[in-house]
Amino acid sequence: MTEAQATPQTGKRVLLAKPRGYCAGVDRAVQTVEEALTLYGAPIYVRKQIVHNKHVVRTLEAKGAIFVEENEEVPEGATVIFSAHGVAPEVHEQARARSLKAIDATCPLVTKVHHEAKRFAAEDYDILLIGHEGHEEVIGTTGEAPAHIQLVDGPEDADKVTVRDPEKVVWLSQTTLSVDETMETVARLKKRLPMLQSPPSDDICYATSNRQQVVKEIAPQCDVVIVVGSRNSSNSVRLVEVALDAGAGTGHLVDFASEIDDAWLAGAGTVGLTSGASVPDELVQEVLAHLAARGFTDVEEVVTATERLTFSLPQELKRDMRTAAAARA
Ligand code: SF4
Repeated sequence: MTEAQATPQTGKRVLLAKPRGYCAGVDRAVQTVEEALTLYGAPIYVRKQIVHNKHVVRTLEAKGAIFVEENEEVPEGATVIFSAHGVAPEVHEQARARSLKAIDATCPLVTKVHHEAKRFAAEDYDILLIGHEGHEEVIGTTGEAPAHIQLVDGPEDADKVTVRDPEKVVWLSQTTLSVDETMETVARLKKRLPMLQSPPSDDICYATSNRQQVVKEIAPQCDVVIVVGSRNSSNSVRLVEVALDAGAGTGHLVDFASEIDDAWLAGAGTVGLTSGASVPDELVQEVLAHLAARGFTDVEEVVTATERLTFSLPQELKRDMRTAAAARA
């Protein structure tokens, strides 16, 4: 389905992908930090980047959030928020040991994968976790059952896997992978392990899948696809790869409109535009303005799904918000 937004006849057009940008998990995580700043006052400590986006992190820093790598950097007794990517159980234990007030902003869809890992580990399965080595989400999920989980980082890794019992093995995945590459990895695993079980429900989340799906739709028509997102954002990086695989002439990842090189647009008739799940739409609007200034004034929004999912704030924060509201009443 397409929705025309503006149609001046410049011959240069933008295909604007929808869904794009903020997902429910990112929205909740950012709101968690904002509400915590309002409720408890600055500073609020956040372990790791709350979401993988430079602009979001800078904006929250300006409001009084302090981003740290580990709990040891948080003063004893202070408030710390865990990021949307999830943490291993030992991170909660460390927080308790330092008497930190921990608020867990892990996306519920990441928590779902943690629960799957714990359940299959309890049933003594070997778990093949498809994901990117070193990614925070993978570290957090692996921490739930390190003795049972092996990382499979892409199709090539599938050939290196060894399991104890080929009839008791399941694959799970990071939530922000390329859907197509993950299926390729699974197919390679299944050649060696025909009894390999699949997750009870998709681990790659709705937001990742939807953003890839619309990019696949627009990419064949695009000379250039611009993805707004940060380099450490897995789902944003995947969008560039998906665009190129689906036939875009070129693909570029930018944090800000100012990073767009005019040379990318030289000779281009159609530019595709989207953004990763951790990107506020104001950054996309800035890119649209940048493109309009270069003659790309014909903007057509291509919509392939409607997203209505929202997540409520972490329980521990909601409880304190209720207490504060009652005290004010
Ligand atoms: S990308 Fe998916 S898993 Fe990650 S925060 Fe958003 S909804 Fe949750």
